[in-house]
Amino acid sequence: MNGNLADISIQFVKGVGPARKKLFANLEVESVEDLLYLFPRRYEDRRNMIPIAQVQTGEWQSIAGTVRTFSERKTWHTKKQVTEVLLDDGSGVIVCVWFNQPYLKNYFHSGKKVVCYGRVDLYKNRLQMISPEYEVIESEEDEQLNLQRIVPVYPLTRGITQRYLRKVMKSCLDKYGDQLRDELPAPLRRRLGLDEIRGCITQIHYPDDPERQEAAIKRVSFEEFYFFQVSIILRRMSIKQKEGIAHKVTDAFSLRFCDAFPFELTKAQKKVIRDVKEDMGQPVPMLRLLQGDVGSGKTVVALYGCLAAADGGHQAAFMAPTEILARQHYENICRFVADGPFKDVSVELLSSSLKKKDRDEVLQRIADGQAGIVVGTHALITEDVTFQDLSYVVIDEQHKFGVRQRALLSEKGNNPDVLIMTATPIPRTLCITLYGDLDVSVINEIPPGRGTVETQHYTHEEADKAYDLVRRRIREGRQAYVVYPIIEESEKLDLKAAQEMFRKFKTSLFKDQRIALVHGKMKQAETEAIMRDFKAGKIDLLVATTVLEVGVDVANATVMVIEHADRFGLAQLHQLRGRIGRGEHDGLCLLVAEPKTQDGQRRLEAICATTDGFKIAQYDLEIRGPGKYFGRHQHGLNELKVANPATQLDVLELARKEAKALTAADPFLKKNENREIRRVIGRRYPTYLAMVAAG
Ligand code: ADP
Ligand code: MG
Repeated sequence: MNGNLADISIQFVKGVGPARKKLFANLEVESVEDLLYLFPRRYEDRRNMIPIAQVQTGEWQSIAGTVRTFSERKTWHTKKQVTEVLLDDGSGVIVCVWFNQPYLKNYFHSGKKVVCYGRVDLYKNRLQMISPEYEVIESEEDEQLNLQRIVPVYPLTRGITQRYLRKVMKSCLDKYGDQLRDELPAPLRRRLGLDEIRGCITQIHYPDDPERQEAAIKRVSFEEFYFFQVSIILRRMSIKQKEGIAHKVTDAFSLRFCDAFPFELTKAQKKVIRDVKEDMGQPVPMLRLLQGDVGSGKTVVALYGCLAAADGGHQAAFMAPTEILARQHYENICRFVADGPFKDVSVELLSSSLKKKDRDEVLQRIADGQAGIVVGTHALITEDVTFQDLSYVVIDEQHKFGVRQRALLSEKGNNPDVLIMTATPIPRTLCITLYGDLDVSVINEIPPGRGTVETQHYTHEEADKAYDLVRRRIREGRQAYVVYPIIEESEKLDLKAAQEMFRKFKTSLFKDQRIALVHGKMKQAETEAIMRDFKAGKIDLLVATTVLEVGVDVANATVMVIEHADRFGLAQLHQLRGRIGRGEHDGLCLLVAEPKTQDGQRRLEAICATTDGFKIAQYDLEIRGPGKYFGRHQHGLNELKVANPATQLDVLELARKEAKALTAADPFLKKNENREIRRVIGRRYPTYLAMVAAG
């Protein structure tokens, strides 16, 4: 019933004009409701600040003090501009240091009160913080909002400061807080003893004490989990009540399949193949998630179902998120099928770069059933693609596709069996959130004979050492990647920086090597040509933006440098690292980073310490929460603003239990008393509900 607040633009909140409104859009805040649901990423208890004299070196801490001196200078060798501010709180002094931020002089006037948060170090016998987060306290009102209480620390975007946001949040709550309405049905709330939403939202932004703040977060999390679970169960029920194809997969076929590989399938692969075989035999449509670390051999398993379908006279579709990956899968499948026992199966590639005439021919072969296995990108779900008898669907890197896109491909068949794959390990808790506890297969074993991968951390100053190692590997005949992150907020600048680095490499560090650059703004054909050359060993060093992230498979590439590694999430780092160590040689992953937060520091330590994707995933989820976990697209996970399955398993389980009870009593929410819930789901998860309605 917050529908009304969702319709009020934040421009009606005091302090938000057209310019700020645009900045808020970067935080995905457009309405008053969005703003009230912009939750802090952490809290600082500033009721009793630690006196500077008592801070612990090596720890991340926040301190408050008055500006005593302000100075600027240039370092003599790197020509960096250094700003130093001396803060004094009566008990002691600390120096705060920033680099290349000349505008700071506008804020740190002598006598101003400042709060800084960062890692405390001891340098030449003085306490200091390098590049701390800072807030300058300007007024009495500022002081009340930013000191002497438990202070929320919000996610920010350029141009929006903590202080400003706290102020705006306050005027927003004062003006609109009363209009917050509960979406959870009152009987359910009463039964579970849940507070009203209004008080919870207030506690989240203005906690009275940590206990009430935590209880409020829990309450909102429950609500988010609950509606998400109901929608997922509805969707699942609507699939499972359909009639699918009972494939007849014989044991003889399975034997033929396993024998056709030059290697022995791992135990884990065999187990998953048994799961899939079992599902395919049922008249109920399969909807199975296959998880496995990069390189664990998922494609082999996916291929099993494709061939089983084709062998039985049906058709299979294999959808990958990029042209490069689709082509790679296509080539691998063709090679496998070529002169083995399945040589009669015809394999097609449907990509958007096909010429019209070729495309028409492929479409024809798909339509008349000649094509047994069709590999492709999003091109597979365009309207003019019709299958004669699509009975099996594979979705690779499922989080790159929306729920709707997945459904579109399935709708090209008659309730086909669907296998969705992910190389981003999904921690068990998130998996339950997304898929319930059903139909998940895991390959938890890497095929034998692979090299190991060691990961090391370097600061920017030490980066030369890392590049020495790269040169050494190249001299030994290996190939290398350098990954440069491009983030949305500063896309142009980052791209320029990446190109700049590439030019430098070409003229100095790597002038004797064959090097190339690929980035997201290049033409597809150009990228593909470079990738082909790299695969063929004609390029020693590939500088790339994150276009590398998925799937690229070059066994001779064994070393990777990741610049600004702290900008990547853990799952992403793990994915990137998965590109090396795919062959017999040991891999070396060199992270160049100077993390600015404690979380950032911990993330780096975690990635250096382990190569176990599931451990890393769990950790990533704990730190970043589910909304960020897969990146922007997916899943209605974006609707989980605070709920985090990694840290709130108990809340998730309660929500699941309630959601199950509700849907068991009223499978499609047809009863009058549940109409409100149906309406809420229609609003929060429109695609889910549309699919349920359609099915
Ligand atoms: P994923 O899709 O999980 O990243 P792939 O299926 O692409 O992994 O497999 C990675 C590589 O390992 C491929 O070259 C594949 O041929 C090989 N491979 C797969 N299974 C095995 C196995 N059981 N033994 C040896 N090599 C394997
Ligand atoms: Mg079936």
